[in-house]
Amino acid sequence: MTTQKPSPNSFEQVRAEQLDYNAKREKGYRERALKIYPWICGRCTREFDRKNLSELTVHHVDHNHDNNPNDGSNWELLCIYCHDEEHTKFENLVRYGSTKDTEVKPATYNPFADLKAKMDKKN
Ligand SMILES: [Zn+2]
Ligand SMILES: [Zn+2]
Repeated sequence: MTTQKPSPNSFEQVRAEQLDYNAKREKGYRERALKIYPWICGRCTREFDRKNLSELTVHHVDHNHDNNPNDGSNWELLCIYCHDEEHTKFENLVRYGSTKDTEVKPATYNPFADLKAKMDKKN
């Protein structure tokens, strides 16, 4: 494994170009997918409308973002949470060759702990 870090400049530039490319590519398939599929998460069946549509994402069934057939057969609409889970599963599959270690772990992060600390500080 290499831990070598690129210089900040080239890293920023490559990152910016990558983001730009991703944004353009995503806009293309996202609009097409939203046209042919109902705005519902394929996992938790949460429904979406114009107000929260940004939380509905396009997942690639074969995980290849360059595979965008016109019939939409490689797309699946997932909410951001289910999409995240789908990718975690896939990463574990690639890394360990199995999904047995992907059981949901109890959440240890408490978003209110920090808030409470901040409020305590104020008073
Ligand atoms: Zn969902
Ligand atoms: Zn995905």
